[in-house]
This record gives sequence, structure tokens and C-alpha cells, in this order.
Amino acid sequence: MSFTRPSVALLGATGSIGTQTLEVLRLEGDSFDLVAIAGGQHVSELAAIAREFHVLRIGVAHECDREALTDLVDVDVDVVVGPAGLTQLAQSADIVVNAVVGFAGLPVTMAALAAGKRLALANKESLIAAAPLVANVRSTPGATIVPIDSEHCAIHQCLASSAQRAGYPDVKRLLLTASGGPFRGWSKDRLATATKHDALQHPTWKMGPKITIDSSTLMNKGLEVLEASALFGVGADRVDVVVHPQSIVHSMVEYVDGSIIAQLSRPDMRLPIAYCLGLPERFDHGWGQLDFSQSMELSFEAPDEEAFPALALAYAAARRGGAAPAWLSAANEVAVEAFLADQLAWLEIVPTVAAVMDQYVDDPLSSLEDLMENDATARRLAHGILQK
Ligand code: NDP
Ligand code: MG
Repeated sequence: MSFTRPSVALLGATGSIGTQTLEVLRLEGDSFDLVAIAGGQHVSELAAIAREFHVLRIGVAHECDREALTDLVDVDVDVVVGPAGLTQLAQSADIVVNAVVGFAGLPVTMAALAAGKRLALANKESLIAAAPLVANVRSTPGATIVPIDSEHCAIHQCLASSAQRAGYPDVKRLLLTASGGPFRGWSKDRLATATKHDALQHPTWKMGPKITIDSSTLMNKGLEVLEASALFGVGADRVDVVVHPQSIVHSMVEYVDGSIIAQLSRPDMRLPIAYCLGLPERFDHGWGQLDFSQSMELSFEAPDEEAFPALALAYAAARRGGAAPAWLSAANEVAVEAFLADQLAWLEIVPTVAAVMDQYVDDPLSSLEDLMENDATARRLAHGILQK
């Protein structure tokens, strides 16, 4: 690492990515200075992190938690609240880890890039919803996005072989791998019986509830197609999905000469998290190390787009552009929340999103206000459909 310790803001510190980022920071304590954290509801966990890492700037989602948090930390801390608080914290460190879930992560992405920071991005929803706006703030001097999402982190590494020209003309396509989720191979009839318990059993990754459900519907992979397109400036028609149940090949880049470069490791999110923090250095922890003395099978198959229509919805949103991806992501958040609250059957999640998308009217997405309006409209329509 460099001689000066980069400062880190970890926003979404209490979640799955947040917790694994803290594990990396514990091991690499001399390399980084954690200066700010934020979370939503888990106030006592936030306080415990603040005490352990001596963090003095903390964000919470709700004003009513400010006092409890201040009492729990027991030293003089600066508590900031809500989206404005996230904005402040995202401007306050050299590296900003956006590990917030859902559209709530938008202020982090926008503020970190506008302030010229390195954005270690797990929160795909903000990039997908705000892609045209993110493209503008990304040109701020110093601003850079390094993806934590394992597939995109793999592609980031595989693209090191490219001539690095805009739009990557030497790249034929990006190949996103997908585990296929817990329902891979299930028939439509069987999918009608899928329960919350079934949907929360991801075969290879342990993640937060929202992305686990998105993985079960393959909406996560659909969102990742949009994420890859926005991140790397490659049209979604050059992003393909390959089902790879072992989750060892994290994604691939196919070049125009037929060469395919892949990134392999055991599935362990600490690897992409550490990659994003340490770039251009790597840490010597061997988290993803594979043992080739043991036989290992790597298999690949096409996704079942009939049983999992979320993928086609995402490609359609990519073709429409503008606010369509924001609608897709917002409607999906509402449907997944309803499913997790036992108000919607698993089989109805994606049709709910599709019914919202049927009402989408083209909007080029010109401003943040425009995005907030589009997000609110998509959510209102989704709630309306759920009430019916
Ligand atoms: P979790 O649900 O485990 O954690 C979400 C985090 O966001 C928690 O710290 C939560 O705080 C915080 N949060 C929620 N709402 C707010 C808010 N309004 N203000 C501030 N903080 C808030 O999710 P994951 O860690 O699984 O996922 C986080 C992001 O990373 C998602 O966008 C996901 O798609 C992406 N991702 C995750 C992967 C994984 O392996 N988990 C892999 C690839 C991408 P609290 O708990 O205190 O309420
Ligand atoms: Mg992923």
C-alpha cells in the first residue's frame, strides 16, 4: 500500500457487505483509516463498530435514533441523519464503500463521485437507476468507480487485457456468470410452490435478504446486465448471461479474436471488497484460493428465460434507456419488500414488475429531481398493483 493511509467511509456498515468490509479492515488495519460509517435500523451494531474502530462520524436513517446512538457510543460523535447525512459522509473520505441496499444508496454514489472520490460500489441499484446522471458526475477529476459486485469486479480485472479505448471496441461481449439461484432447474409448476424459506436459500453466496430474493428470480442478473452496461459503457446487447452453478468463474470477457479472459476464485466477497480498497495493490490473504489438487467441475448452461422472465425485462429496460431501468429497479424493490413481508407469492414478484413496466412512458432522465419523480411514480404504480 501507499505510505499515507487512505481514509474510508463505509456506508451500509451493518449489512452483509458492510460486515465483510469490516473483516477486511480488521486484517488490514494499518493500511486504512475508517473515518465514517452509516446504517439504517441497527443502531446498537453501528455503535459497536464506532467504538471498535474509533469512528467519530456516523450516519443513521432516522432522526429518532440520533440520541440513542450518541448515548451508546459514549464519546463525542458527529451523528448525521438521512440522505443529507449520507451525502456529507460520502464526501468525507478517500474511498467510499457504498454498501447500502436499494435506491437509498443513491446519495452515496452521486456525492462520492461529485467529490472526486474512489467509489467502491456494491449498491448496484443507484448506478442502474441514475445511469445517465452518474455518467456526468463520473467525469469529476479523481472520481472513479471500482465495482464490488463479484461479476463486475471480475470483468474489471479481465478488461486489463483491453486496449482501454472508449466502448472497448476490442471486446466482443461481456459474459456475466450466474449461479442460477436456488430454483435452477425448477419447472413453472414447481416454482408456483416456492416459499420464502426456499427463496432465501442461496446455493453459493450468503447475502442480505433483498439481493438473495433478486437472485432467486434472476432479477439480480437482469440488474447486473444494466449495471455492467453502465459501468463499462458497453451496450446491453454486448452483455450476455451464462449460468455457472459452481460460482467459481465470476465472469468473463470475450475479445473479438475469440480469446476469453475469466477471473476465478472461491466465492468469497472479501476478495472483491479488498480488491476495491487496495487497487492497484492486492492483499496476501488468499481468500479465494482454489485447490487444483482436488477434482473440480466447472459447468456452463444457458439461462431458462421462460421460467425466469426477469432477464428479458431487464434487457427491454436497457433498450428503452432513460428512466426505464429506474422504474424496473424501483418496482422490483417494492415487489421484493412485499414478498419478504408475506404479502406476495414468489411467482408474482416479476409479473408485478412487468405490470409496472407496461405503464412506462419514455423519459430521458435529465435531472435528479426527474429521477426522484420517476422512482416515486414506479413505486406508486407497484403499490397500486399489489393492492389489487
Ligand atoms: P444488507 O441488507 O445485508 O445490508 C444493507 C445495509 O444498508 C445495512 O447496513 C442497512 O442498515 C443499510 N441501509 C438500509 N437502508 C439504509 C438507509 N436508508 N440509510 C443508510 N443505510 C441503510 O444488504 P447487502 O449487504 O447484501 O447488500 C448491499 C448492497 O450490495 C446491495 O445493493 C446489493 O445488491 C449489493 N451486493 C451485495 C452482495 C452480497 O454479497 N451481499 C453481493 C453483490 C452486491 P441496517 O441493517 O442498520 O438497517
Ligand atoms: Mg453479483
